Amino acid sequence: MKGTCLCGAIEVTAPEHNEVSLCHCDMCRKWSSGALHAVHCGSGVEFSGPEPKRYRSSEWAERGFCGECGTNLFYHLLGSDEYVLSAGLFKQPDFKLTLEIFTDEKPQYYQLQPESKKMTGKEVFEQFVPKE
Ligand SMILES: [Zn+2]
Ligand SMILES: [Zn+2]
Repeated sequence: MKGTCLCGAIEVTAPEHNEVSLCHCDMCRKWSSGALHAVHCGSGVEFSGPEPKRYRSSEWAERGFCGECGTNLFYHLLGSDEYVLSAGLFKQPDFKLTLEIFTDEKPQYYQLQPESKKMTGKEVFEQFVPKE
């Protein structure tokens, strides 16, 4: 599937995917002004046009955006080829919301969706970060 940033300079090509997850963590909400709506496309993601700007947001990950229009493009785990892409890049009417993470950091002014799976920040780290 293909998507673009707001100005259209950067085009993203990614494997087909229709599940959307929401991240309610403080960093995602500061970055995007709301829960980050993301599609976890895994590997095989390519960008064309100008190089995305990259911001190292934590020890283990960086976030990418268009240097022209500022559209949030991706969350990328360093050292992997896996990209979590902003859902808003794509016109994909069959996207389904399946997972909400960092539900413990969600502010009270908007609601969780009834049908999605929920995970707290602690549960996310336990499931996805390898133990040493
Ligand atoms: Zn742009
Ligand atoms: Zn987040």
